[in-house]
Amino acid sequence: MKHFNIVTIFPDLIESFAKTGFIKRASIKKLITINNMNLRDYSEDKNLKVDDKAYGGGPGMVLQYQPVQKAISSLRNKGRVLYLSPQGKVLTQSKLHELSNYDDLTLLCGRYEGIDERIFDNLIDEEISIGNYVISGGEIPAMVLLEGITRLLPGAVDDSESIKRDSFQNGLLDYPHYTRPDIIDGKKTPEVLISGNHQEIEKWRKKNSLGATWEKRRELLKNVKLSEEDDKLLKEYIAEHEGNEN
Ligand code: SAH
Repeated sequence: MKHFNIVTIFPDLIESFAKTGFIKRASIKKLITINNMNLRDYSEDKNLKVDDKAYGGGPGMVLQYQPVQKAISSLRNKGRVLYLSPQGKVLTQSKLHELSNYDDLTLLCGRYEGIDERIFDNLIDEEISIGNYVISGGEIPAMVLLEGITRLLPGAVDDSESIKRDSFQNGLLDYPHYTRPDIIDGKKTPEVLISGNHQEIEKWRKKNSLGATWEKRRELLKNVKLSEEDDKLLKEYIAEHEGNEN
């Protein structure tokens, strides 16, 4: 069982996420527990304030040290404490795997201009970014972590095979998927997928996983070691599709 503490000024956002779909099912299966903490509950200010103006002036507010310190120190099981921040290392699939090894994780969601630097100095183990852009709060990034980590827990996804085939798991992108109907708007499902020949289907999938990676994210291929068979499949794919790439 994995335990997440989430420290936020908008617990309603996390709450609605926690009671929907995949994350809800993972809770029911007792794979995860979520402790949704309202930062305001830890404020010692008479108006329950959690933010204040920045020293030095300028626009915007800053989350204060006191409530965050109190929230985190109230936890018996804080585990690794992560601050969601555009200044962190950008999240990758292998980082999700690494984080999935902790029994307890505490996710601090920033807002406004961010947090008092001393929170970072004293209370945070690691900063995690979801990409090189800025949004207005750490709640969505926290949900990204929560969902990405939960997906890796045994039993969370009904068919664990589907996880192994996900994009990035083996350094490649996933192969294309098709569902009924067989033909739509002039586009046909590749014959082999309807053939029932499992060996051929596997081969097509491997080839098109390599092909998708080559067409969409060619730089990823530099970091994977291809078997002789894979190398041959990729060469075939390229020969068949040369000129298609963007
Ligand atoms: N002034 C800050 C950004 C503040 S945005 C800076 O430039 O570094 C407000 C909050 O949103 C941040 O404290 C952080 O928790 C969250 N946030 C914004 N962009 C994010 C990103 N790319 N990854 C993770 N968290 C992000």
